[in-house]
Amino acid sequence: MQTNIFAQAATMLRKKNIDADIGRFVDFMDHYQAGDLIYPSSVHRELRMDVATVYELMGSLTAQNYLTPYLQIHCPSCQKYTGYCYKTIGEIPAEIFCPNCSYADTCAINHAIVVYLVD
Ligand SMILES: [Zn+2]
Repeated sequence: MQTNIFAQAATMLRKKNIDADIGRFVDFMDHYQAGDLIYPSSVHRELRMDVATVYELMGSLTAQNYLTPYLQIHCPSCQKYTGYCYKTIGEIPAEIFCPNCSYADTCAINHAIVVYLVD
């Protein structure tokens, strides 16, 4: 089990001049392990960090191959995760049926949220 995956990323993140508490961010990220999914909204909520900064940090980690972004489709009717997950916007079908409530989502692309898989 690999730990402190993100500790080594701290130096790289500090060089980016992102206006954020990198130490605190990295400490939080180190609760995750390879194979875990990270929701930017959780980072935002837990660290009280603004969403744009969270995405900037996640983007830097993605560029350095620490994370891979995925698009999860959440149902606009029941709000649950539909189980449909894509790597690119182009892969999202026009229509998705929610397995939880059978709602036919005809603009699934609007209900995609970005999640990050720890590599
Ligand atoms: Zn649903």
